[in-house]
Amino acid sequence: MSDTIKKIGLIGWPIAHSLSPVMHNAAFDSLGLDYHYTLLPTKPDDLETLLTNFASRGFVGGNITMPHKQAVMSYLDEISEDARSIGAVNTIHVQDGKMIGHNTDWVGFLNALLEARHNPAGMNVAILGAGGAARAAIFALAGAGVAQIIVINRTVSRGEQLTDEMARVFPACQITFQPLEPETLQAVPNDVDLVVNATSVGMEPQDGLSVWPDQIPIPTKAIYYDVIYKPSQTHFLQRAEAAGRPTLNGVGMVVHQGVAGFKIWTGKEPPVETMWQSVLDVLGTAKNDE
Ligand code: NAP
Repeated sequence: MSDTIKKIGLIGWPIAHSLSPVMHNAAFDSLGLDYHYTLLPTKPDDLETLLTNFASRGFVGGNITMPHKQAVMSYLDEISEDARSIGAVNTIHVQDGKMIGHNTDWVGFLNALLEARHNPAGMNVAILGAGGAARAAIFALAGAGVAQIIVINRTVSRGEQLTDEMARVFPACQITFQPLEPETLQAVPNDVDLVVNATSVGMEPQDGLSVWPDQIPIPTKAIYYDVIYKPSQTHFLQRAEAAGRPTLNGVGMVVHQGVAGFKIWTGKEPPVETMWQSVLDVLGTAKNDE
């Protein structure tokens, strides 16, 4: 590879599958930019060394994935305010010799929802999960002016901590916590506007599973959004679609977090349609399962 190529790396362990190299390299090629996106599988013990030598190896930016999204924060020179509030960094940029951390997952979550023509302002929302994806989703939705969020999670301490932190950042939004139990799912108001699965339940290779048990009815007026993109339609979304409800999978979130990252690294307007198409080609699905 030529020395003039600016490298972008995906840092995670293990990196089972990722749409990012195909998506970003298609975008760089389409604009004729001298950038190349590559995988950097990195064990937790090797993270510090990798980041210390990152810029000298020709890397100008990167994405951070599991399990490093929190750990990376100790090795950065600056962290954007949104990443700090969410408590996770998924995008880094080397700027004027400094390593700067950003979070574009929340941007991806929100822009995918808006692109599907669902404006969350004023909505009442139920979110299943309290991990990194849930944090990004809550930050996005509360910032976009939803009225209420019920956070539902298996591990109570994690759910309560997230709820407390987000309620402090967004005092105008009513954010409450419920443990993941059949009774709490049953008690989710039937007229809730949006139900988000931000857990990893239903993701390959656990296709067919859902955190919302089949015997518990689902709210009948909601939009259903699953952050999982593989499979493209989880059991959670299949049930919603069978009930005639609008559904959205996690592909748009991947694309739009990438769009935001591309802008940070290159300063250029990203070729959004090229990025979408490259991802759909890999997955063999249509946009929003049209
Ligand atoms: P994470 O931080 O590890 O959180 C996982 C969440 O799933 C936690 O709330 C966990 O509950 C819950 N969970 C896991 N197994 C469960 C089970 N058997 N029953 C009930 N709850 C369970 O992971 P994450 O980073 O938030 O990722 C979550 C999902 O989002 C993954 O599938 C990931 O691929 C996806 N994601 C998608 C995008 C995108 O761009 N589309 C971006 C980021 C993540 P506990 O707290 O009780 O453990």
